Amino acid sequence: MKNILSIDLESWIYFYENAVGARADWLTSQNKRILDNDYVPTATTNILDLLERYNQKATFFTLGELYEWYPDVVEEIEKRGHEVAYHTHNHALLKSGEILERELEQSGDFIKRFKPIGFRAPQIYITRDSIACLNRWGFKYSSSTYDEHKISKIEGIDEIPLSTISFRGTPQSNHELPKHMTIKMLSRKVPFGSGLFIGLLGSKTSYVISRLNKKNIPAILFIHPWQLYRPKEIEGFTFKMKVLCRNPLCMPYTINVLKAVEKLLKRHKFLSFREYYYA
Ligand SMILES: [Zn+2]
Repeated sequence: MKNILSIDLESWIYFYENAVGARADWLTSQNKRILDNDYVPTATTNILDLLERYNQKATFFTLGELYEWYPDVVEEIEKRGHEVAYHTHNHALLKSGEILERELEQSGDFIKRFKPIGFRAPQIYITRDSIACLNRWGFKYSSSTYDEHKISKIEGIDEIPLSTISFRGTPQSNHELPKHMTIKMLSRKVPFGSGLFIGLLGSKTSYVISRLNKKNIPAILFIHPWQLYRPKEIEGFTFKMKVLCRNPLCMPYTINVLKAVEKLLKRHKFLSFREYYYA
């Protein structure tokens, strides 16, 4: 049984922005690139080599800004047979369709070059008007919700949810958006497709994937580069404390999941969204 693997391709800076301690107006694209310090090219090469070692394919939801910083890196992803999809220009939280419209306009070169059909919203937070905007820009699918495996047509776009398993009877699915991670949701189901839960469950994620696959359902997962290859900037004790004080729930994101993911790559077969649904 085939599953779907996705990488949200972004610098560690977006997740750790508040812990960096820099003023928001100082964090221009140029300064973020300086802070990134060539982390993204190194981590991406490592991920591509890792996937090749296990003969696996993935979707890379990429920030448009990264294509401005490192065009060759994004070209290389496509060259090595993976799907290049879109993750906004610089990781804006999509509270409205207008915000996404502005992001897409900034990513003009990226969109023209890769013509992405897939989209992932930052923080898995999307509204209906953002989905309508994706339709206008020629996208086919979005994977920006947590839910049971069921593709919904919303505003002409296939919304393909990240995997959850429910532990309280039959889940009630609805079309209400956003479907992000909330305490209420966690009281009913485990969004194990999230990088956060791969951090918590480690290689036990494999057991949950097998359980789904037995029901003929593919697992749909995502991870971040900085969960696999940790830059030295975020490993210091003081830095970690700052992250934890800001939001203790982010703790599982600070776990290195490389070994766990390697086990998943050994045991299960993964494809990109494009190959799985649109080949
Ligand atoms: Zn992201």
